Amino acid sequence: MLERLPRSRAVTVGDFHSSGSSRIGTTSLAFAMTALWKDILHNDQLIQNVAPIAVDAALLEGVLMRTKDDPNASDVVSYAPFTLLPSAVPSSLLEQAYSVQQDFNLLVDEVSRNTEFLECTLASTVKVDDFTAQLFKIYKQVLKEGVTQSVFLGINRSDYMFDYGSDGTPALKQVEINTIAASFGGLTSRTTAVHRRVLNVLGKPKEASKLLTNNPSKGIALGIAKAWELYGSDRAVVMFLVEEAQRNIFDQRCVENELWLRNIRVIRRRFKDVFEKASLDNDKRLHIDGEEVAVVYYREGYVPKNYNKQNWEARLMLERSRAVKCPDIATQLAGTKKVQQELSRPGMLEKLLHNKPDAVAQLRATFTGLYSLEMDEEGDKMVAMAIADPDRFVLKPQREGGGNNLYGVELKQVLEKMKDSSERTSYILMDKLKPLPALNYLLRAHSPLKISECVSELGIFGVYVRQGQDLVMNKHVGHLLRTKAIEHADGGVAAGVAVLDTPYVI
Ligand code: ADP
Ligand code: MG
Repeated sequence: MLERLPRSRAVTVGDFHSSGSSRIGTTSLAFAMTALWKDILHNDQLIQNVAPIAVDAALLEGVLMRTKDDPNASDVVSYAPFTLLPSAVPSSLLEQAYSVQQDFNLLVDEVSRNTEFLECTLASTVKVDDFTAQLFKIYKQVLKEGVTQSVFLGINRSDYMFDYGSDGTPALKQVEINTIAASFGGLTSRTTAVHRRVLNVLGKPKEASKLLTNNPSKGIALGIAKAWELYGSDRAVVMFLVEEAQRNIFDQRCVENELWLRNIRVIRRRFKDVFEKASLDNDKRLHIDGEEVAVVYYREGYVPKNYNKQNWEARLMLERSRAVKCPDIATQLAGTKKVQQELSRPGMLEKLLHNKPDAVAQLRATFTGLYSLEMDEEGDKMVAMAIADPDRFVLKPQREGGGNNLYGVELKQVLEKMKDSSERTSYILMDKLKPLPALNYLLRAHSPLKISECVSELGIFGVYVRQGQDLVMNKHVGHLLRTKAIEHADGGVAAGVAVLDTPYVI
């Protein structure tokens, strides 16, 4: 459908309406998704030949990651894991994911500003989940003192799977939205060129030319640049708040480079550095190492292991400051799984986005079943249902980064153990999505080349900037496709399970 798209510019929603040709029917869509590249997949000779070319292309294009053994040096680096072949993505679902992104940006922003909603929603969770409770404590303290930040920057990524319901039609269903440290906008910008090379080598130039140009790192940087500009001090810097072990530095450097190109200076600091060297002046401006910080871009701080006592103090200082935090603590809380579940309650979207019925309908269409495990009748009913039919659900704690969710037998055992305790309110329950598997090869350093049955997850990056009450930017800025072998129920790229991919639009 998208053959006529020019290769030199990023995809926009309008592009999906540009073709007059008819869509593939739903039954044949399922077939087309699973049968893509069938002439290549089982040709061992061809695969053996093209795989090393693909790896070299990844290295050449900068699809890089530092190694586990040496995460803080770039002397020896490797390629970030990726699929040998791009995976099929239905045009209508990609279009839908793009067209709902600005509404998701709005929704996250609304939630982050709605103290009553956040307090009500997280009330039981903070009683039993220490991590959420710590974040919430900082949130309350900053509110009490008065928020000094006047410019707000959101960089999020809404993730979806193509769920095959009982009618055999693929539907776009949201897995979660990431409001902090949404990653791979940099490396995914470079993965398209790798897959173009692979398809060209395989004698498929027409297919290669169909791959959509995609550059989220530029859109993310433009959001940061706007926030920096509105902060209003041309000497101030952007501070990337980074991890102790910085394996994914190249992904971050892609965004950083875009800022340097616009003459915006970037520094990289850890919580430890902030604790030891940062200070607030009388005006609550943030300073570190002689620099004033305009924007703090968190690529860290979303899981308990990122924090010790000193790091929590550093986080509090950052939140109290006038600097634009991406995200501020309220927006981080807006991205919790508990909030996601509450948003799916009947009437909730209408309440939050009261004068936007179209947005409400678009957003709701992407929700799957989400259920509260509060200590009430509804919670009791859901616990009993999940214990009786564990394969229908996923049990999710308030955690990010992959590898935390529970499935099947484990879900059942954990629920049986905590069913009468308020501990269960730190989890939510979600319908398990069932995407159709397709064959591919996952290329990962030091791993044997073997064919795998895989499923994909599509993410759309959203960026918005608000100054006071005015939303001055609200955009979608690109996509990320991640693919994993079906034997892994959970996990992202950083967790070592999923790999980078490129959508092949059908
Ligand atoms: P995290 O914050 O750890 O990334 P996610 O909600 O994204 O949490 O879940 C992690 C992974 O688990 C996803 O990338 C996906 O592979 C799988 N997963 C999550 N929710 C579902 C679901 N409802 N159905 C099927 N798989 C899911
Ligand atoms: Mg996720």
